[in-house]
Amino acid sequence: MAAGSASQKNPVETDAVIVGAGPCGIFQVFELGLLGIKAHVIDSLPEVGGQCAELYPDKPIYDIPGIPVCTAEELIQRLLEQIEPFDAQFHLGEEVLEVEPQEGGSFKVVTSLGTVFHAKTVFVAGGVGSFQPRKLKVEGADALEERHVHYRVRNPAVFADQRLVVLGGGDSALDWALDLADRAACLTLIHRRPEFRAVPASVEKMRALCDQGKMDYLQGTVDSLITSDAVLEGVVIRDAEGEERQLAADHMLVFYGLAPKLGPIANWGLNINRKTINVDTEKFQTNVPGIFAIGDINHYPGKKKLILSGFHEAALAAFAAKAHIEPGRKVHLQYTTTSPLMHERLGVSDDAG
Ligand code: FAD
Repeated sequence: MAAGSASQKNPVETDAVIVGAGPCGIFQVFELGLLGIKAHVIDSLPEVGGQCAELYPDKPIYDIPGIPVCTAEELIQRLLEQIEPFDAQFHLGEEVLEVEPQEGGSFKVVTSLGTVFHAKTVFVAGGVGSFQPRKLKVEGADALEERHVHYRVRNPAVFADQRLVVLGGGDSALDWALDLADRAACLTLIHRRPEFRAVPASVEKMRALCDQGKMDYLQGTVDSLITSDAVLEGVVIRDAEGEERQLAADHMLVFYGLAPKLGPIANWGLNINRKTINVDTEKFQTNVPGIFAIGDINHYPGKKKLILSGFHEAALAAFAAKAHIEPGRKVHLQYTTTSPLMHERLGVSDDAG
């Protein structure tokens, strides 16, 4: 994976800019590479992987074709390995602010660090937009962030033998509560409503662990934090009956979900549909010819926000981009198994077959 260099020429001339380095943006590099198109990938986060890296790196994924199970982090590593032959340049920690159509059908793309690209095509693979976890709105929580109040789990080992309070009722809250219950000194899951958004199997497991005394569940909301010298000591919970309860705690893990913020993408003249971008299902092209949208960010009838849907979209968008970049030239489908041209682009020897 090549990193973008600050000293490179501005503007950067390229066939394709990919906005977003989540799984679908990374796979877009591969599909473009097979067709001989080099890409620059830009992400506002300091690391690649999108939701997989940010939200659930250690969780197993079971529905990637051909990989019965791998963690989200492994999937990203495998995708990076798969795109190695194509030498894409990554520009991390840079938010794409502007995408402006230019005369002749190309685009000027400008990032928050002032890097300017002159691109023939743009692929918006922005997922749910910029990541903004919904914060715990209780006095003092901000000052404890990263030390005692956590919005994601970077290293689960930190929570071994600690007193944990997990907040939320979605998949992330339940998954982490189930995962950490065994290694924590004690763990309480707090959710404000009796219904959970998490999958029923996780809720059942959670109730079973509560019955076994391995964790606790309390319906309620956080009222205030108990601290001493900027160290978390406990939380005050208001339960479903409105009663106050105090829980001793060393760490709080808050999973209130992401505030879906499209951010600058909303200002690029694209046809927006409730924080997603309308595309057709032949090319996954937006209302602006030459700008494609793939992965969680796009919308079309029947859309499912799954990684494998994004992979399919990336393949078809790449073919459409090739036709856009080289109008009038027929784009042939070639199998990676047998095509000498594909082998050349992939850097594999024909002798191997
Ligand atoms: P994302 O992964 O959301 O990546 C988008 C990237 O774009 C982000 O890194 C963001 O920083 C960047 N970005 C946005 N705007 C800009 C901008 N203006 N400039 C620069 N960068 C920008 N899917 C499955 O198929 N199977 C599963 O088992 C599964 N499990 C999941 C479990 C959990 C807990 C969660 C939360 C999701 C799960 N998903 C699963 C969904 C899956 O993670 C998403 O479908 C997938 O991440 C979408 O990939 P993407 O590349 O479209 O977007």
